[in-house]
Amino acid sequence: MTSAASVAKERCRSCGIEVPPDFLACPACHALVHSLRLKELAAQAEAAEGARDLAGALARWREALPLVPAASRQHEAIQGRLARLSARVDAGEAAAATPDPRRGRWAGVGGGVATGALLLWKLKFFLVGILSKGKLLLLGLTKAGTLFSMVFALGAYWVAWGWRFAAGLVAMMYVHELGHVAALRRYGIPASAPMFVPGVGAFVRLGQHPARPGEDARIGLAGPIWGLAATAVAWVAARATGWPALLAVAHTGAWLNLFNLLPVWQLDGGRAFVALGRAHRAAAAAALLAGWFVARDGLLLVLALVAAARALEQGAPRESDRPVLAWFVGVAVVLAALAALSGSPVPVAS
Ligand SMILES: [Zn+2]
Ligand SMILES: [Zn+2]
Repeated sequence: MTSAASVAKERCRSCGIEVPPDFLACPACHALVHSLRLKELAAQAEAAEGARDLAGALARWREALPLVPAASRQHEAIQGRLARLSARVDAGEAAAATPDPRRGRWAGVGGGVATGALLLWKLKFFLVGILSKGKLLLLGLTKAGTLFSMVFALGAYWVAWGWRFAAGLVAMMYVHELGHVAALRRYGIPASAPMFVPGVGAFVRLGQHPARPGEDARIGLAGPIWGLAATAVAWVAARATGWPALLAVAHTGAWLNLFNLLPVWQLDGGRAFVALGRAHRAAAAAALLAGWFVARDGLLLVLALVAAARALEQGAPRESDRPVLAWFVGVAVVLAALAALSGSPVPVAS
C-alpha cells in the first residue's frame, strides 16, 4: 500500500488521464494502475509454482492481491489461485505426514489416543525439523523490538519466579510463536517476528488474512504443535537432570499450550474450529471428554465443554477438515498427559 504510485499522481498508461492517488484502476478506462508490477508478480508466481515452491508462489499472489480492486475479476482470479495453492500445501503436508489409509477413522471418539501415539512418534521428526531450522529459531533475535520485549518479559518473570523458570517460560512461548511463523511462511503470508507482552504471552502480527479456513486452522494449530515439542523436550530434560525448575517449565508449557487450544475468540483453538463443522466439533468434545477421564486435567474438561457448546453453534461451516480435528484432539490430549506427568504447576523458587 505504500508504493510510489500512491504518493505522486500518475497518468493512465492506456488513456493518459490523471489517476488519483490510491486508485487501483483508471476511473475512465478501468486499466489497472499496477499492471506492470502485476505481470511481474504473476510471472514470478508461475515460475515458483513450476519449481514446486508453493510458499513462494503463494507469497507472490498475496503480494499481488492488494494491487487489484476488491470487486474486480482479477481479484477473484487471484483469490482462486491462492485457495488452490493453499489447498495443495495442506494436501502435501497430509500426504507426507500420514500415508496411513485408515486415517479417516480417527474422527471417532477414541481417535485422540491413536492420534496421540502417532504424534509422539512424529515428535522425532519435529525435533529434527526444529534443529535443521536453526536460522528460523534465531528469527527476531537480531530485531531490537523482539529482543527488547523478550528481555523485558524475562525480567518480569525472573522477579516473580527466579531466572531458571523465567528463561524456560520465555523459551516455551518463543518456540510456540515460531510454530505460527513457520506455518505462515509455508502459506506465503508475511508475518512479524514474535513480540512478548509480560503477563499475557507473545504474538506474531499477520501481514494478511489466511485465504481459507483450513489454512487459518493449520496456522493456529502450528503454535501448540511446536509448543508440544518444546514441552516434551523440557519434560525429558527434567527427567534426565532432576531439576525441579525444568519440570515446572514443562508443566507450565503444557498448560499454556493447552489453554491456547480453547476453541474460542482468536485463540489457536478458535482458529482450528473455523475449519470444523458441527459433527466434528461434537466429535472433538467427545474425544476430549474421553481424554479427561484418563488424564483428569481440569482444563481438558473445560476444553470439552467449550467444544460441545460450539458444536451447537448455527454458524459452523458445512464442510469440515478432518486432519484439523485429528491434530486438535491429539495435541490437546498429549499436552494434558504431559501436564499430568510433570507434577506441580507451582514454579519452584530458585
Ligand atoms: Zn485510463
Ligand atoms: Zn498461538
